[in-house]
Amino acid sequence: MNRREKRKIKKEIEIFSDVAKIIKQYFPDLSKKLNELTDTRHQSYVEYQMSVITITRLLGLLCGIKSMRETTEKLDTEETIKNIGNILGIELEEIPHYDTINNVFEQINIEELRKIQKYMVNRLIRSKMFDKYRFKGRYFQIVIDGTSMMKFKKRHCKHCLKRVHNEGKENEYSIYYHYVLEAKLVVGDMVISLDSEFVENEDEDVEKQDCEIKAFYRMAKRIKKEYPKLPIVITGDALYACEPVIKRCKENKWEYIIRLKKDRLKALRRRNRRIGTVRGKK
Ligand SMILES: [Zn+2]
Repeated sequence: MNRREKRKIKKEIEIFSDVAKIIKQYFPDLSKKLNELTDTRHQSYVEYQMSVITITRLLGLLCGIKSMRETTEKLDTEETIKNIGNILGIELEEIPHYDTINNVFEQINIEELRKIQKYMVNRLIRSKMFDKYRFKGRYFQIVIDGTSMMKFKKRHCKHCLKRVHNEGKENEYSIYYHYVLEAKLVVGDMVISLDSEFVENEDEDVEKQDCEIKAFYRMAKRIKKEYPKLPIVITGDALYACEPVIKRCKENKWEYIIRLKKDRLKALRRRNRRIGTVRGKK
């Protein structure tokens, strides 16, 4: 083993022991909740509990591993297996094969995962350790942020969003892509995912495609339902500087900060003067 490999292993062990500590202190019921996720696998073949599969994947992501195959390949060391067992408080001999992890995640119930996410966010908020980051000493700052997930030259599924380039010209082409909108709780230098919503079409030939704003409405509705009393200040970029978004924030009794580039600021200030806060980005 060379020095680089040794350093990598050391870093991994540090991540694992941090995760173990955090889970013990803040999320004592996490392992139990992960095991309660609906398991659609044929039960006679089941070798690993849901908690082992989900935590293995999570640790892979924390170590910057992107694919499932790499996850099992890179985490397959005695140290790591012992550490995963430690995190979950069980004896573990092997970690699951990437096919097993893949199959489980393909079938996993998103609504059940959302409940676990809510449990974790609530535990963190109640621990009061984020109170010092509250905006004006009161509001939790939530940033709305979109990320492109996948891009294709050909249609990949019926939910793909489609963008036509050079429309009507000889060199016209389309790209197909998937996009996710995330609501992130900002605490100091850290962000914690509070909710996410896919921007995707219901079907191949929809008249109007889904968009970030529509996804924001769906997500806002859910956040209000899940966190009805949380004092929130929504932060978004210029895309959200439109009346329906601001109206929804007001209905939900959320404050909002919309960041604009300087040149667009004057016109929008005029327009939004009566409806709320608009801040400039220098
Ligand atoms: Zn697709």
